[in-house]
Amino acid sequence: MKILVTNDDGIHAPGIIALASALAAIGEVAVVAPDRERSAASHALPLHHPLRAEQVAPGRFAVDGTPTECVNLGIHSLIDFHPDLVVSGINRGANIGDDVTYSGTVAAATEATLMGIPAFAVSLVTLDAAADYSGAAAYAARLAKELIRNGLPRDTFLNVNVPAVDPQLLKSPLITVQGKRRYEGTIVDNVDPRGRNYYWIGTADLDFHDLDGTDYAAIKRGHISITPLHLDMTNHTALSALQSWTL
Ligand code: MN
Repeated sequence: MKILVTNDDGIHAPGIIALASALAAIGEVAVVAPDRERSAASHALPLHHPLRAEQVAPGRFAVDGTPTECVNLGIHSLIDFHPDLVVSGINRGANIGDDVTYSGTVAAATEATLMGIPAFAVSLVTLDAAADYSGAAAYAARLAKELIRNGLPRDTFLNVNVPAVDPQLLKSPLITVQGKRRYEGTIVDNVDPRGRNYYWIGTADLDFHDLDGTDYAAIKRGHISITPLHLDMTNHTALSALQSWTL
């Protein structure tokens, strides 16, 4: 199995190092990742600047671009094989619910799926800089084999979130749906040392509605969450509602 590994936390992040090492036990691995943190880069593909790539080790490339650019450049130019699988992560912090639309980690899996390559994104539910990624990495290797054995439905990839507990204590994986974030007071409004106002959007809090069957409900109870995501953003149930409009 030939595997391309990327992330949005940057090529030196502990999560991608643990992931690449676990996957190397089951296949040939190349790493193409941003040269710095690009979290929340979403599916950005800036078209107005050249990209630079530095080979930091055999089969390991640092790119001054987004995760989406890394997948694109990696497959079309840098690596010398066509991957059977693209794995993105292991992200530092959950990627669940509405947050998946901002996630660079998830976007890398989106990009691979657009290119017709099976993919999954994997995140560890912690912001602890000294977190242990070994349990999530071992699970990612197991899932990679299972995914290749079964194949994925068309235009679909998996979004995997692993609770940050002792690997022995991880509960069985649950297949979930995307949860819903609670949006409240997420802007910090403050004054900088030069007397100018600044604003900071977002919160690190995992503030989600605790709904049965969601990714949030699974990780909150210590289960690995696996959500199948689809490239088609059409709301099929809205099609009939729109039929009654005068358009
Ligand atoms: Mn990240």
